[in-house]
Formats: sequence, C-alpha cells, structure tokens
Amino acid sequence: MSDVRNVIIIGSGPAGYTAALYTARASLKPLVFEGAVTAGGALMNTTEVENFPGFQDGIMGPELMDNMRAQAERFGAELVPDDVVAVDLDGEIKTVTDTAGTVHRAKAVIVATGSQHRKLGLPNEDALSGRGVSWCATCDGFFFKDQDIAVIGGGDTAMEEATFLSRFAKSVTIVHRRDTLRASKAMQERAFADPKITFIWDSEVAEVQGDQKLSGLKLRNVKTGELSDLAVTGLFIAIGHDPRTELFKGQLDLDSEGYLKVDAPSTRTNLTGVFAAGDVVDHTYRQAITAAGTGCSAALDAERYLAALS
Ligand code: FAD
Repeated sequence: MSDVRNVIIIGSGPAGYTAALYTARASLKPLVFEGAVTAGGALMNTTEVENFPGFQDGIMGPELMDNMRAQAERFGAELVPDDVVAVDLDGEIKTVTDTAGTVHRAKAVIVATGSQHRKLGLPNEDALSGRGVSWCATCDGFFFKDQDIAVIGGGDTAMEEATFLSRFAKSVTIVHRRDTLRASKAMQERAFADPKITFIWDSEVAEVQGDQKLSGLKLRNVKTGELSDLAVTGLFIAIGHDPRTELFKGQLDLDSEGYLKVDAPSTRTNLTGVFAAGDVVDHTYRQAITAAGTGCSAALDAERYLAALS
C-alpha cells in the first residue's frame, strides 16, 4: 500500500494536465494517471489547433499536449502512463487501483477522463481524422471555407454543426439514417431554412474515401440498399459522445446522459474531496480551452479542500 498522497488526477487531456500544473505549483505533488494508450487526450488525434489562445500561428495538437505535459512535469507532477481500473472514492482516504493491481491512496481525487466521440466504425475514418474528417465544427469549420461538406446525424448537435458550417462552406449536406430528425423543432427549422443546407434521408455512410485527404463518401440507402456517391472534402460526424464514466458508476452522480454531475460553478462532485473537470462533465462546450479552464478550477477547489483539512 502506498503513502497517502495529497491528490491523484485521473486523465491527461487539457483538463488533467492543467489540474496537474496548478496542483504541482501549489506543492501538492500530484500523481497523474495519463492512460495507457491515450496519454495526452483527444488532441493527440488531431492536426492543427488554431483556437487555443497564445499560439498566434496555431499549433499541432500533439505538440500542444506535449507542452502541457512538460509544463506540469517541470513543477513536480508525477506522471504515470497507465490506466486506473478501479476506484473507491468514499471516505476521507480515496483509493485508485492501476493495471498492475497497485492501490494508490490520496486525500483528494480529480477526475478528468474526457469523453469519446462516437465513430461510424468505418475503415479510413481514423486515418483521415484531421484530414477532412472531424467531430467538431467549432474547432475545424474554419478550415473548410468554400468547400462541400457532409454532416452525419439527426440530433441537435448535427443541426447546430450544419448551420454553423454553412457560414463557411459552399454547401452542407446532412445525411441521416431516418426520414425524420431527432433535433428540437427550433433547430430543425433553422436548418430547413438555410439555403446552403440539403438533406439526404434514410441513408448511412458505407465508405469514407480518400488517400491522404478525404475525397468523398459512398452512401447506402437503408431502405433500398442502393449505393450512391457524395463528393465532399469535409465530413463532420455528429452522432454523439460517450463520457468516460464507467469507472465511477455507483459512486459519483451522473446525469441522464452519463456525464459527471458537479456543483457548478465549482467542480465538486457529490463526494467530498472528489472533483471533476473537462469533457467528462461538459456536454455543452467541449473545447480544449474550457477543459483547461475547469481543470484549473478543480485544482484550486482541491487545494482549498486540502488546506481546510489541515
Ligand atoms: P481528453 O482530452 O479526452 O482527455 C482525457 C484523458 O483521460 C485521456 O488521455 C484518457 O486516456 C484519460 N483517461 C480516461 N480514462 C482513464 C482511466 N481510467 N485511467 C487513466 N486515464 C484515463 N478543441 C479545441 O478547443 N480546438 C480544437 O481544434 C479541437 N480539435 C479537436 C479535434 C479532434 C479530432 C477531437 C476529438 C477533439 C478536438 N477538440 C478541440 C476538443 C478537445 O480535444 C476536447 O474538448 C478536450 O481534449 C477535452 O479535454 P479533457 O481533458 O476533458 O479530455
């Protein structure tokens, strides 16, 4: 059994590394579980990030995350490239178990495990991520000026992405596997009224095409089985996100969509000494800067909680 740490951070995206930086600078010697294969979080899978303040010419996602990691390490954060496989967060001393079965103890825990965007599950989808395929219009829309774009999905997010993208794009085609939308009436009306947006109903993506860059889609009509081609250079997949909260079920309160609930504007969860930040909490903004911002808040909340204990 290890010594009792001040704070353990689970997750290594902008939220986790920012929490690590702040708690390290507060001399709390945080132990950070970065994840076994996905250290650095969602931005490790993208190319250029143009909207993180401080980088006038933009920065590549992996480079931004390497910088955050090094900055946290410089102030004494202890980083472990491993997954947490079990937690016991009740009581004054919390425990966190790694893949080797080692149990780590701490007075406070910050959860920053992020969320996973749902994928189509097609070959080429990951390979062309950042090369025409995207999951975030706010992040990447600007790169698609005057281009033909497809948006996949029929909910509010898909309509929001499509209407946002129509500001830049030459055309936006919404591909939906049903013949009606799930989106709210207001969002639907906005999309229907937009002259740049057209709909392809009852259809799903059968193939994501392109070598170094996306060149088009093959669509399949789910009712007739008929295949067709759609020439687009942008594909925005808006079929939902799954917050990584499996580990915390039964201990931390989750909302109806599975995101961790916090006592906003603080980052306190329902258990004392446990804080949560970033996309695992947020189904509204989902940006690197907002994740970093709430990572900072979680660190400050943890710092104050620990100060009150002593
Ligand atoms: P994440 O970045 O998802 O990090 C969570 C981390 O927790 C992961 O490293 C994971 O391995 C780790 N983890 C999860 N479970 C465990 C566990 N059990 N044990 C240990 N570790 C665990 N935002 C922008 O602002 N600008 C952009 O240009 C932009 N581009 C994007 C491009 C793509 C392709 C994607 C997918 C997202 C993009 N985003 C962008 C959104 C941005 O990446 C996210 O909002 C942000 O990364 C969320 O940060 P986070 O720290 O909450 O979670």
